[in-house]
Amino acid sequence: MTETIFSKIIERKIPARIAYEDEHCLAFHDVAPQAPTHVLVIPKTAIRSLAELQRTDTGLMGHLVVVATELAAKLGLGDGYRLVVNCGSDGGQSVDHLHVHLLGGRRLGWPPG
Ligand code: AMP
Repeated sequence: MTETIFSKIIERKIPARIAYEDEHCLAFHDVAPQAPTHVLVIPKTAIRSLAELQRTDTGLMGHLVVVATELAAKLGLGDGYRLVVNCGSDGGQSVDHLHVHLLGGRRLGWPPG
């Protein structure tokens, strides 16, 4: 598996503002936030994108989503928030390590760009 900026964050080779960690995932604040709250939740296993998910990853994917919702509550996003997973170049994915964006703290537009 190729090293990515996110695998370097998991290994603490580069710094990040960590919001949550357990044996399966790591959550940290996005370096270029698109909303007042913008956190990324990533698996510790190296899955490149949604397109690589297998049936055996169902529990892990559910875990990432539940952790994101727990963080939303912890970070005070009671008025709502959005979870986004970009996939591939047309989907706007720029880092090849699966990640769930948690965005909130302002009214988010729809449809997304
Ligand atoms: P995506 O475009 O969906 O692949 O999202 C990648 C996200 O990673 C972007 O929102 C970037 O701002 C964010 N990002 C890139 N490098 C870092 C970093 N070193 N620490 C935190 N977030 C990062």
